[in-house]
Amino acid sequence: MIVHKFGGSSLADAAGFERVGDIVLGAGGPKAVVVSAMHGVTNALVAIVEAAAARDEAYRERLRALRLRHREAAETLFGPGGAAPIVRAIEGDFGDLEDVLRAAWILRDASPGTFDMVTGYGEIWSARLFAALLQARGAAADWLNARDVLVVQPTGAVPEVDWAETRRRLGIWEETHAPRPDPLVITGFVAETADGVPATLGRNGSDYSASIFGALLEAEEIHIWSDVDGVMSADPRFVPDAVLLDSISYHEASELAYFGAKILHPATMGPAVERSIPVRIRNTFDPEGPGTRIHVSGSRQMVKGLSTVEAVALVNVEGTGLAAVPDMTDRLFTALREAGIITLMVSQGSSQHSICIVVPQADAARTKAVLERCFYAERHQGQIQTIEVDGNCTLLALVGDGMAGLPGVAARFFGALGRAGVNIRAIAQGSSERNISVVVERPDSVRALRAAHSGLYLSPQSLSIGVIGTGTVGSTLLDQLQARVDPLREELGMDLRVRAIATSRKMHLADRRVDLGAWRETLAEGQDFDLDAFLAHVQTDSLPHALIIDCTASDDLARRYVEWLDRGIHVVTPNKKAGSADYAFYEALRQASRKGSAHFLYETTVGAGLPILQTLRDLIQTGDQVARIEGVLSGTLSYLFNSFDGSRRFSEVVAEARQKGFTEPDPRDDLSGLDVARKVVILAREMGLRTELADIDLQGLIPPGLEEGSVDDFLERLRDHDEAIATLFEEAKGRGEHLRFVGSIDSSGKATVRLESLPGSHALSRLRSTDNLVQFATERYTPNPLIVQGPGAGPEVTAGGIFSDILRLGAYLAGA
Ligand code: ADP
Ligand code: ASP
Ligand code: MG
Repeated sequence: MIVHKFGGSSLADAAGFERVGDIVLGAGGPKAVVVSAMHGVTNALVAIVEAAAARDEAYRERLRALRLRHREAAETLFGPGGAAPIVRAIEGDFGDLEDVLRAAWILRDASPGTFDMVTGYGEIWSARLFAALLQARGAAADWLNARDVLVVQPTGAVPEVDWAETRRRLGIWEETHAPRPDPLVITGFVAETADGVPATLGRNGSDYSASIFGALLEAEEIHIWSDVDGVMSADPRFVPDAVLLDSISYHEASELAYFGAKILHPATMGPAVERSIPVRIRNTFDPEGPGTRIHVSGSRQMVKGLSTVEAVALVNVEGTGLAAVPDMTDRLFTALREAGIITLMVSQGSSQHSICIVVPQADAARTKAVLERCFYAERHQGQIQTIEVDGNCTLLALVGDGMAGLPGVAARFFGALGRAGVNIRAIAQGSSERNISVVVERPDSVRALRAAHSGLYLSPQSLSIGVIGTGTVGSTLLDQLQARVDPLREELGMDLRVRAIATSRKMHLADRRVDLGAWRETLAEGQDFDLDAFLAHVQTDSLPHALIIDCTASDDLARRYVEWLDRGIHVVTPNKKAGSADYAFYEALRQASRKGSAHFLYETTVGAGLPILQTLRDLIQTGDQVARIEGVLSGTLSYLFNSFDGSRRFSEVVAEARQKGFTEPDPRDDLSGLDVARKVVILAREMGLRTELADIDLQGLIPPGLEEGSVDDFLERLRDHDEAIATLFEEAKGRGEHLRFVGSIDSSGKATVRLESLPGSHALSRLRSTDNLVQFATERYTPNPLIVQGPGAGPEVTAGGIFSDILRLGAYLAGA
């Protein structure tokens, strides 16, 4: 025998009943099916009875809507003709219900019995509908109204079952209904007191019903079907990254439920535990899924879940003389118990200067009054100075059997909250170590939940990434990421999640991750670019770190890096604008990345993917003295002079390079030497110099007067200057030298960017193709300099260099 329970989320409409019917009839063996009200019906009934007791006419309209909803469901399921008997039965219920509501109207009050009678009707209608559906499909089904057998004592937060009486009544019911119907449909949620007064098991109580009937019918398993895959590490409505827990212990399930995980009623486990009946949580919308198994012990995973109880009040009783107050705690809890106030959490420092408790927000004012009364004397004698109640709080609990005896969990929990800027108002950890609870302010609750979840569940190398700029480099990077994201997650535990992509006009924001196989299409259909919205999306509380990759050459974006770093957003970029901006800005940038938690990585601003800046940094940090750096730092200019051999006009070589895509669209952007000068500035600053762009002795290759005008015009007029360059070339050749466009900087700060004639023995003379070459003359590397050489431009190598920076960032974060 298996007891299945379907919640309102599974029974939203006729289609829901059909789906549930398929599941039930598809399952083998004898079974009972506990049903709750159709989705939203219990809420509607609560509103109706409250309105009637408050003499609010609106209840009649709501009642009509509810009646219509059930009739429509019946007619959809059985057709207008077939629905008649069931509609008649439901109409009968509505007639009774109207009588009860009229009584509440007249009395201007609804007793607990009346309230429970009304709110329990939803389950009765569901049971009628579902039993009829099963019969219509040929099953020997019938339904049992739990009010006829289930006897409870409505004490405390959770009603207690009178097992002996309930068994007796069930026995009678079974005798009159032998053989036992199969499936046996049972109303969830509802019960009766020993005196025959209608009762319920509390909100979400059908889960408890399932477990009670599981015990009564000696079920082998209890299956609770809902609209999620199972018990998740946190409520998936608030934490998109919540993961499915495959198996948890009864203890863990109870704690999670107690602390607000709505997926289960807090008392569900009791009857199942006594008989060790496994409970499974399954998804009606994915019946093949594995779900969550709840049994004596769960998986060995240290932390299982996080949940919140919204709307609690933090009560603080404080006094320098508190320690001297006799039986202080005893009196406090007695007073609360007598007033029927439940305490959700208690925390007391060992100095006994204060005690802090957490109660439901609804009881906040009453709690204050009760305590003021209880400690009246002490308040006036000055032993107790404050009794403070803050009603706007949330309780956040972390649950897991495996936390016991394992150091470091609290550190990760609190660390994550701290990094998210969440202030913790109070803390409690039971000595069972199965639960750590904290109180935070209510407006912080979702942020706290997400931050704690990411800190505990996600690898510290989980990055929320936003890429700005989808030109050749940006798009190549996205393609490279697509190929490597999965292996990196599997092999290194590094979770690189591109969640946002933008151009200067459009952007696409994805909740979990952008589909990197189709980013071009989604971006094309994206929304208008809005940088602030983009940043806010990338910097989410759901992931431990945020990273912006700026693949543009935009000055405006570069100017914002300081602000991003200050906000804790890491920045990786090939954009040279920030590193070569005025020194004051550069200094602010370095400070922001040095003092804050965010890193700024820009290896590709010089020599693309070649390890130039890292090499320089390593030399300096290991104590070497750098005397001079010189090199060919532009792939374009490298190509031009490597291929210019005097046999052709220089202007022809330029035009051809442009055609091959080796130059910027306007070759003057390369020939001006400005790009090389920026790289020299970046190198100089890495050496510790305060070099500005204006300090560079820059002799570009654009002849005076040719700065303006169209590209074609420029190439045409460049011919007039071919003579001059050819002469230079011939002279150099005569000396056995080569022309190279070189950038250099020495330790005194002297920096040049210009065309130089170099001896054949010089490393730069042997350059080929578009290679870059940088040589470092240092104290250690003397007389032979350290040389880094290779392709220093092109989308593949540049994107690869950016990717390396991302991995370097991941390595920093893993160690953090
Ligand atoms: P039903 O109507 O089936 O009883 P509920 O709405 O009562 O369904 O409970 C299911 C909901 O519980 C889910 O949709 C989910 O949003 C919420 N929930 C809260 N915490 C958790 C959790 N830790 N795991 C799974 N679901 C959770
Ligand atoms: N229908 C009841 C409620 O909404 C019981 C349940 O769904 O478990 O609380
Ligand atoms: Mg529920």
